[in-house]
Amino acid sequence: MMNPDNTGRDDAGRLARRRMIFEDIYRRGVRNEGVLRAMEDVPREHFLPPELQDAALEDRALPIGAGQTISQPYIVAYMTEQLDVTPESRVLEIGTGSGYQTAILARLAKEVFSIERLDRLCEQARRRLAALGVSNVHLRCADGTLGWSETAPFDRIIVTAAGPQIPPALLDQLRDGGILVAPIGDEQDQRLLKVRRNGPRLIETPLIAVRFVRLIGKSGWKE
Ligand code: SAH
Repeated sequence: MMNPDNTGRDDAGRLARRRMIFEDIYRRGVRNEGVLRAMEDVPREHFLPPELQDAALEDRALPIGAGQTISQPYIVAYMTEQLDVTPESRVLEIGTGSGYQTAILARLAKEVFSIERLDRLCEQARRRLAALGVSNVHLRCADGTLGWSETAPFDRIIVTAAGPQIPPALLDQLRDGGILVAPIGDEQDQRLLKVRRNGPRLIETPLIAVRFVRLIGKSGWKE
């Protein structure tokens, strides 16, 4: 299905995205069709400051202000594939940032609950998601290491900032059979961890090495 030369009736932006997806995501092993389609549907430039929009298709993290970054497209696709989101999933995301990963999740899930600790980024993501017509996302400006107890439990939980541990509140809010994906480690050395809840048991699988900005909060790093 991933044919980079199949233009169809799509616009130029979609064609350019399709090439990037083929080169940087599909060829590196992400094969989930729903994930690849969501990456094709969501314009990354919409989540970037104007002066960086030309770099939207580069497969790297980019600055979004306040010392934070929009994640690398490959990592967004990889984490979303590992999370195994279904149309019935209620997903909790910690670290809304630009809202780009949120928009990808929103195309695959029933509902996305996303928490961002920095008010400015939180409000900006709210406006950007609304402008794209995304209606199944609920945003909260708060410390996400505490989770979102009023709407727990969640089928899927994704953390997009790196902490020293998986915040215990997030594990408490993960439904039986649910999956959590989070980068764990210090500023230098981090690895994605996948956790599946099986009743009271948690089954951990280490995934690839990554580099994210720091998770700051009650169960994260100090500011
Ligand atoms: N997926 C986002 C990544 C943004 S970077 C994107 O692609 O744009 C990670 C974000 O996590 C930053 O915006 C940072 O402010 C936020 N963050 C860090 N600690 C947090 C916490 N405890 N709760 C909520 N958000 C947090």
